[in-house]
Amino acid sequence: MSPPQDPGSHRSSLGRRGLCLVISAPSGAGKSTIANALRAAEPELMHSVSVTTRASRPGEVEGVHYYFRTRDQFAAMAQSGELLEWAEVFGRGYGTPRAAVEACLAGGRDMVFDIDWQGHRQLRAALPADVVSLFVLPPSLPILESRLRARASDDVAEIARRMAAARDEIAHWREFDHVIVNEVLERAIRDARAVLNAARIATARQLGMADLVQGFG
Ligand code: GDP
Ligand code: ADP
Ligand code: 5GP
Repeated sequence: MSPPQDPGSHRSSLGRRGLCLVISAPSGAGKSTIANALRAAEPELMHSVSVTTRASRPGEVEGVHYYFRTRDQFAAMAQSGELLEWAEVFGRGYGTPRAAVEACLAGGRDMVFDIDWQGHRQLRAALPADVVSLFVLPPSLPILESRLRARASDDVAEIARRMAAARDEIAHWREFDHVIVNEVLERAIRDARAVLNAARIATARQLGMADLVQGFG
C-alpha cells in the first residue's frame, strides 16, 4: 500500500502536465500577496518571472521578482520569440519568458502568473488546455487606492497612473474563469487555493487516470 499523496507528488506517476494559474487584478488589489501565500503553502508551485522595462522597486531582486531590462533588450526578446506573451502596461513593457514556462509544464510543475488581462488573453490563446484563471477585485476603488498608498512602493504619479488604469483592467473581469473580491485576505487565499486544486483534478487533465482505471479491470 502506498502512502497518501498530495496533488503535487502524484503528477509524475500519472504523467501529468503542469498547469498555468493566471492571477490578474488592478494594481494594488492583492494579487502578489495572494500568489506569495499560495507559493508559501505549496512550495512546489513555480512562479513565472516576467521581464519588465520598469525600474526595480526597493527590495526587488533581479531574476526573482522580475528580469529588469531596457526597452531595447525587451524589444529584441519580443522580436526573437523569447516571450510567450508581452504587453504594454502603464506605459512599460511586460512579458513572460517562454523557455521557463515550457520547461515547467513539460516537467509536470504548476506555475503561477501575475500578469495583466492582455497577458491572460495571449497565454490562453497560446496554451488553451493549460490555463486556469482568477481575477481579483478590490472591495472598492477608494480601498484600492488606499492599498496602493499603504504599500508605499510607488510615488504619487505612479499611483495616479495605476488608478487611472484600474477601471480598464477591471472591465475585463468576465474573461476569467473565476473571480473573487479580496476583502478578507485569508478568504481570498483559501479561494485561490480552491481554484488551483480544482484545476489540478479536472478530468481533462487526468489523462494518466485512464491507465489506473483500466487496471481496475
Ligand atoms: P520602438 O518601436 O522602437 O519605439 O520600440 P518599442 O519598445 O515600442 O518596440 C519595438 C518593437 O518591439 C515593436 O514593434 C514590438 O514588436 C516589440 N515590442 C516589444 N515590447 C514592446 C512594448 O512593450 N511596446 C511596444 N510598443 N512594442 C514592443
Ligand atoms: P498587487 O500585486 O495586485 O499590485 P499587492 O499584493 O502588492 O497588490 O497588495 C497591495 C497592498 O494591499 C499590499 O500592501 C498588501 O499588503 C495589501 N493587501 C492585500 N490584500 C489585502 C487585504 N485583503 N486587506 C488589506 N490589505 C491587503
Ligand atoms: P507591477 O509593476 O505592479 O509589478 O505590475 C504591473 C502590471 O503588470 C500588473 O498588472 C501585472 O499583472 C502586469 N504584469 C506583470 N508581469 C507581466 C507579464 O509578464 N505579462 C503581462 N502581460 N503583464 C504583466
